[in-house]
Amino acid sequence: MDNKQELLKQLPKIDEVLKDQRLFVFFEDNPRELVVEAVREEIDSLRSRILSGELFADGSLFRDESMERIKNKIKDKSKNSLRRVINATGTIVHTNLGRANLSEAACHGIAEAAASYSTLEYDVERGKRGSRHDHVEKIIQKLTGAEAAIAVNNNAAAVLLCLTALATNKEVIVSRGELVEIGGSFRIPDIMEQGGAKLREVGTTNKTKIADYRKAITDGETGMLLKVHTSNYKIIGFTAEASLQELRELGNQYGIPVVHDLGSGLMIRLNEFGIDEPTVMSSLDAGADLVLFSGDKLLGGPQAGIAVGKKEYIDRMKHHPLARALRLDKLSLAALEATFREYIDPERAKMNIPVLSMITSSQEDMRGKAESLKSMILARTDRFFVSVEETEGQIGGGSTPNQFLPGISLSIKADGMSPDQIERRLRAADPPIISRINKDNVLLDMRTVYTAELPEIASALQDIAGFRGDAHA
Ligand SMILES: *Cc1c(COP(=O)(O)O)cnc(C)c1O
Repeated sequence: MDNKQELLKQLPKIDEVLKDQRLFVFFEDNPRELVVEAVREEIDSLRSRILSGELFADGSLFRDESMERIKNKIKDKSKNSLRRVINATGTIVHTNLGRANLSEAACHGIAEAAASYSTLEYDVERGKRGSRHDHVEKIIQKLTGAEAAIAVNNNAAAVLLCLTALATNKEVIVSRGELVEIGGSFRIPDIMEQGGAKLREVGTTNKTKIADYRKAITDGETGMLLKVHTSNYKIIGFTAEASLQELRELGNQYGIPVVHDLGSGLMIRLNEFGIDEPTVMSSLDAGADLVLFSGDKLLGGPQAGIAVGKKEYIDRMKHHPLARALRLDKLSLAALEATFREYIDPERAKMNIPVLSMITSSQEDMRGKAESLKSMILARTDRFFVSVEETEGQIGGGSTPNQFLPGISLSIKADGMSPDQIERRLRAADPPIISRINKDNVLLDMRTVYTAELPEIASALQDIAGFRGDAHA
């Protein structure tokens, strides 16, 4: 007990520690409060270690180790919680890692709209108030040939706005095979309820025919025929669904709009790359009056939800009070317009939009990256067994279930270090490197890693090789 009291008395005061020269550089780039907090936390932790009976070998408690911990704490505290990671999972539209990386043009658009005043709601030619919808609407009309378009906060919002504006107090007919949950709490039946629409389920889980829709139509009651693209699962085997063409004929006959919730927003065919998904244009051509899709799935843009199609329906969405609550901010609008503009030339889109360039990247490219990463690692450390392997990547983000993209990974193993430990230490690196584990190996999938990130991965592994660490790491 006496001993503890002795040690507690030796704990330095915060102000004393703050005078340590080694902390001076941190005051330049950080708020003073942040440095103070780091020092206080270290002293508090020393105090609890003393009280818990953990003794210190010599009398001087506050040694270099403490100062190192303070410095690391300051570095950690100065980082944003939302920060860059290296995605080595091979999952391109990774929902947890921010879905789509934007093109250079989109990033530029964001930076400019962020730092300056803009034409957001201003018509420079007429010197009058303009509409924020115009910017993306024009380019979407040009690309898709649709009469009109509106972009809102995300596709969940587009679905909600569409149901609310077009089908409140009306019945919306949906196939039982398409009552999907997209993730989190986005379930078609729940959104329906929120939109004030009445869900009218037809058919069965595996088979729904056009006759099922026809039977469910009630004069004056039916407000919409909704087709939902089952983008995150597939029903296979004994199945049937009504085509958009059939739905269009039925809709025309009764004057009911046909809405297609497409999900991923593919704008160009990618069948030759193993992506078997309908495009926005194919859905419009097949007869959807409105097509709804995400900005940050296969489109490769910012978080957004886009509705394209007949002007009368888009106008009703634009003028609904909810449109204001769900509207897109200027940064996303700038990024979305720039993303769509890339599609004027599909070949440029494939090069400039990261989601597309990752999908279309060649085996040779990925193998090249894997080989150079391998040499970088071997030049720094001989701690790991590294080999280039053929693996399967995925689009992700609830797109294209069961469709795997053959890719190339660098496989990492080490004696005396489990794959779990390697994975965890890669995740603790700065920037964090997110990998996946396959049996005894850690896999770094080259499809989602940029060439510029390879040296960062190699350095992180070099640090991990020299890792002595404590029992918790
Ligand atoms: C992903 C998806 C949504 C939700 O889109 P968010 O942009 O994530 O809000 C809605 N419907 C379908 C079919 C989807 O695939």
